Amino acid sequence: MHFFSVQAGFYKKKLKTLQPLSLCGKRLRQNRKIRDCMEYQAFLIKYAEIGTKGKNRYVFEDALAKDIRMKLKRAGGEYAVSRERGRIYVHVKSEHYDYEECIDALRHVFGIAGIAPMVQLPYSEDFSVLEEAVLSYFRSAYGDAPVRFKVETRRAEKAYPMTSPEIEQELGHSILEAFPNAKVDVHKPDVKLRIEIRQFINIYGKIIPGLSGMPLGTNGKAMLLLSGGIDSPVAGFKVAKRGALIEATYFHAPPYTSERAKIKVMDLARQLSTYTGPIMLHVVNFTEIQLAIYDRCPHDELTIIMRRYMMRIAEALAYKNDCIGLITGESIGQVASQTLQSLVCTNEVCTLPVYRPLIAFDKQEIIDVAEEIGTYETSIEPYEDCCTIFVAKHPVTKPIVEKIRKSELKLLPEIDAMVEKAVQETEDILIRKEKGL
Ligand code: ATP
Ligand code: MG
Repeated sequence: MHFFSVQAGFYKKKLKTLQPLSLCGKRLRQNRKIRDCMEYQAFLIKYAEIGTKGKNRYVFEDALAKDIRMKLKRAGGEYAVSRERGRIYVHVKSEHYDYEECIDALRHVFGIAGIAPMVQLPYSEDFSVLEEAVLSYFRSAYGDAPVRFKVETRRAEKAYPMTSPEIEQELGHSILEAFPNAKVDVHKPDVKLRIEIRQFINIYGKIIPGLSGMPLGTNGKAMLLLSGGIDSPVAGFKVAKRGALIEATYFHAPPYTSERAKIKVMDLARQLSTYTGPIMLHVVNFTEIQLAIYDRCPHDELTIIMRRYMMRIAEALAYKNDCIGLITGESIGQVASQTLQSLVCTNEVCTLPVYRPLIAFDKQEIIDVAEEIGTYETSIEPYEDCCTIFVAKHPVTKPIVEKIRKSELKLLPEIDAMVEKAVQETEDILIRKEKGL
């Protein structure tokens, strides 16, 4: 990660209004905690899909700004988030801030396509101010590297006394003079140095990729069936990335599954919550139902019948908690209970839509996402899941719905009360990532 080192003298002389920066520069040389310093005072937040939302656009922008404010609470420093003519800016308000923590927080916000650290100057028609700031930015960001660059200017403030081509030409010339290794390349530049002349003058080149997706809370709420495996946290992440809020249901079968297995699921929910915000985790005691299925139903159908009861209970909890969809980590053919025929049987018991974002993912593709979002290491901890304990040696891979329904009749009449009890006696745990962790 590159850090923009501030040229304190320059700013002190030229830009008295940016006091915090110049103060910061002095300490920068002495202070080992260089990263706490204010390399960039502002960030331009680029978003993609929101731009297409027509009249509703402000709803999405408000949700994005709100989530940015929330996520920045965990980064060291004080920030202000503002909207200006279809833009979102983050301004650093404190004298010191932690650049890496700030970027990390922004990289946990759904809906951000890119983060551009900027140098921002107050509007001034004095070209030499702009020129010096650009040279300083260039030196700090790219040093003497042999970069191929292009200057791109957008001049929203039409009163500025030079045209965009004039500004680009002049700045290109100054950069070439100051940095002999740099070259202009207007077709395939390594660096597009952007100058925006608006209410402020913005200078930026690097754009750090964000998560993309849609802002949190713009798409209703869904119930994730969260196990301790690799797949379901990724499935929850994918749906949340499209703007849905999530709650989670975990089926626990004590004493067959240990307390440690439950803690693992709580850890996974906590990691997910760094993206989704706090998650209500409903822990269902599934032991009685699993034992009944094991005692009374054909063993080759155990997993399918168990999965059907999981879906029924998760759906009851979804209705109870205003969730309008279910989410699972199923993927076609991954195990016997996920063939197309098995999925017909599992789906049959649900009236809510079931979202299976990983349905066509290969395992490795799922693992890649799990690694990226930070859940993989926890998912591979070796704690048992209720699915793996009551499992048949030869499960059906092509179950027939009518036959499964018939097998389930063997659970009557007690099963209804068991399901009711499981739904009523759920342990609800609010999982949140604590500040600073
Ligand atoms: P994962 O799919 O999360 O890696 P897994 O492979 O152990 O876990 P599967 O047997 O593939 O689970 O189950 C398919 C889906 O059913 C899971 O992705 C998850 O959504 C749901 N599920 C399975 N076991 C549980 C459980 N104990 N609690 C909640 N949901 C579960
Ligand atoms: Mg799985």
